Amino acid sequence: MTNQRGIARGLMTVNDLKLVNDFMLQGIEQSGGRIDKVYFCPHDRGQNCGCRKPDIGMALQARHEFPEVDFSKSIMVGDSTSDMEFGQKAGMVTVKITENHSLSNFAATLQ
Ligand SMILES: [Zn+2]
Repeated sequence: MTNQRGIARGLMTVNDLKLVNDFMLQGIEQSGGRIDKVYFCPHDRGQNCGCRKPDIGMALQARHEFPEVDFSKSIMVGDSTSDMEFGQKAGMVTVKITENHSLSNFAATLQ
């Protein structure tokens, strides 16, 4: 799940983002991983779209499309405050990746 306000600002197109995502997914699959779908918010700040993190619209969309998704068993891994707020709002475990690539701010929200 990714905020991509560069689309709203005309810095890149949805197709540009798709090319980047396809490259990423290809690498992940070659390494034995799997990602079912990439969600992105193409809107700019202040548009109140509901999908720009820290709003949880993208999580709700994912749960709608993949009903087996259980936020209480989900882990939000991100590098920003908005990622952590997103995870906390959705009731997920959050893991913040910092610049030195270590795991910190591990906040278990499971009961
Ligand atoms: Zn949005």
